[in-house]
Amino acid sequence: MVEEQLRRRGIHDERVLEAMRVIPRHKFVPTESVGAAYEDRPLPIGTHETISQPYIVALMTEAARAAPGEHALEIGGGCGYQAAILAHLGATVCAVERNTQLAEESRERLERLGYGNIEVFDGDGSDGLAERAPYNVIIVSAATPSISPVMLSQLAEGGRLVAPVGSLRQQELLLVCRQGERITTRSLGACQFVPLIGKGGWKQEEVGPKN
Ligand code: SAH
Repeated sequence: MVEEQLRRRGIHDERVLEAMRVIPRHKFVPTESVGAAYEDRPLPIGTHETISQPYIVALMTEAARAAPGEHALEIGGGCGYQAAILAHLGATVCAVERNTQLAEESRERLERLGYGNIEVFDGDGSDGLAERAPYNVIIVSAATPSISPVMLSQLAEGGRLVAPVGSLRQQELLLVCRQGERITTRSLGACQFVPLIGKGGWKQEEVGPKN
């Protein structure tokens, strides 16, 4: 996975490649998907949620540049894989997940795997998580029509936010950086994520009953 799907496609950060080499992705997917855990595609982890494709996780992590001792937030923690990678890079991580069953399962899984520096919160993270702000890194793991200004205000000086922004069908992966009052935005390419449902994302009626 690391050599063929990540390095060959342009992921160069050795810390990210190492994290993805050592973190057991097969322990984050449901039993029936264990055989496909290292394949180049997203996999189902719950009712309609997915664990993102390894390349996309690597691309987001590389762009976010989480350094040891930094504070990171992931919105849409799902099975906990992205949070584990951020923690492996030395960040203290808060992950928010609206699906209570997934939140509970990821909490248990991360504890079992020995990640003491990740806190999983239940609920709507579409406006970030004010109680632990500010964050050096914010990773939004679900598609949003726009970046919530409330979430953006939780980004620390010099902070980096990565989010898939666009329509329900397709988004652009954006890297947003804060430097004082200056906010810069760069596109990392097209992507497809499951929707961010909540106050700062889409309304449940807009995405339909199946999500
Ligand atoms: N990084 C995760 C990706 C999970 S898919 C992983 O590796 O497993 C995106 C997740 O976002 C889903 O689990 C979904 O339930 C969650 N989600 C959607 N809207 C949300 C919201 N408003 N707040 C928190 N989580 C949300």
